[in-house]
Amino acid sequence: MNDYPRRITLQEWDAHYVQLREAGMREPPYGGTLRRHVEEGDLRLRTLLFDNSSAALRLWNFLLTEEDRLREARTAGKKIVGTMKDLGTVPVMAYALPNVVAFYPDGAWWIPCVMELSEGLFGIADSLGIDEAFCPVRAMLGAFITEAHFPVPDLLICSAGATCDDFSAIAQRLNGLGYPIVWWEIPHRRIPDPDEERVELPGGFAAPASQVAFVREELERLRTVLEQFAGVPLNDGALSAGIARANEVRRLLAELRQLTFTAELCPLPALEMLIAEMLAIHFCSDQAETIEVLRELLREVRGRVEARQGVLEADAVRVFWVNPVADLQVMNLLEDCGGRICGTEYLFSHALDEIPENLPPMEALARMALADPMVGSAADRAARICADTRRFGAEAVLISRIPGASHCATEGIIIAEAVRSRLRIPVLEIEVPPLSDSIKPMLRTRLEALIETSKELRKTCCVPE
Ligand code: SF4
Repeated sequence: MNDYPRRITLQEWDAHYVQLREAGMREPPYGGTLRRHVEEGDLRLRTLLFDNSSAALRLWNFLLTEEDRLREARTAGKKIVGTMKDLGTVPVMAYALPNVVAFYPDGAWWIPCVMELSEGLFGIADSLGIDEAFCPVRAMLGAFITEAHFPVPDLLICSAGATCDDFSAIAQRLNGLGYPIVWWEIPHRRIPDPDEERVELPGGFAAPASQVAFVREELERLRTVLEQFAGVPLNDGALSAGIARANEVRRLLAELRQLTFTAELCPLPALEMLIAEMLAIHFCSDQAETIEVLRELLREVRGRVEARQGVLEADAVRVFWVNPVADLQVMNLLEDCGGRICGTEYLFSHALDEIPENLPPMEALARMALADPMVGSAADRAARICADTRRFGAEAVLISRIPGASHCATEGIIIAEAVRSRLRIPVLEIEVPPLSDSIKPMLRTRLEALIETSKELRKTCCVPE
């Protein structure tokens, strides 16, 4: 069955699913209609637009069945490690071990949006003294208490040091509630002094060799913790194999991003791209399946690019998006207003950059951990955003502020100034709550203004330096 690519509603997916099945679509065991997730409480799906490919269906089903996968892993006797905050480093180590599954409880961030606040997680966080002055990651506390969204991990590992105040405070509260956490420290990445040995990191940042050595020691400490947890050695050979598997995911994503962000016609909507990128941080609790899901998505995108087919208008404005959006619906809204995503920085670009395979594995992982855009200065982050905006040819930058997030108070100004002065393209900063329906008209007006301004600029042929 060869449908023209387009974004469709949940209701349209109901009929489309039947047609795809009749046409012979084969699905993995977690397959099925999108509608069933609504019946299980994922109410936000009713208002979203989805890509109409079977590859996208598989992606959504893979994402929305993670809780089942974790519970099955526990039943099968696998050990579950909850990795927190570092977004991409410790899972590479954990998945190098047999019989261990790692996931980020931080992912509870999106539960209030996906379940349209029906789950009451923010109320539980409130009752524990973690109110709306904190970012939506506070939902994680409620998810631990209710145990309704993921099994409580057998081991919790969390990065500390150069982390946001929000996560630091929430993780400490969790620890105090009787969920013991193994902490490891990531220092604030600084520019090496002129007389200091300098190490280039994946993604383009640099750090003093002494900081890399410090992180390496911290990761060595975690290696011992994980070995004792799993009851098997985590030697360099296993780690190198784990890095190679993580890199396979990263290479697939790199091609997917390159093709999607640079194609003449946008071959895949923003929402599906966001989810695909998120798979990099902990492989949605199944590394091998992540690779298969991404391969299918990439095949779809390659086919669309070759056939010169897209899901949006040809003149859609190319927008670079900064920060994950608390309400997924706003990714649709940007496209409804005439934009398309051409570049992203969702707080975990270090989980997308390839990990060096020509170094001892712990050295490679330490360099990757220090390449986290959130452990350095906002100026560093702005520099990377400018470089990637230029690389993907984006015409505007949209900074999506996260309610309550400590880093969002000032970084938007720094990033916006850097983009304006270096690239001379429009920048818009918006704040998006987990449910944005009440402010949707205002968001629409602001997004439309960004799109209009960018289209006007096309006429003046303003080429960034
Ligand atoms: S404040 Fe930002 S970096 Fe910290 S947990 Fe929230 S979203 Fe993540």
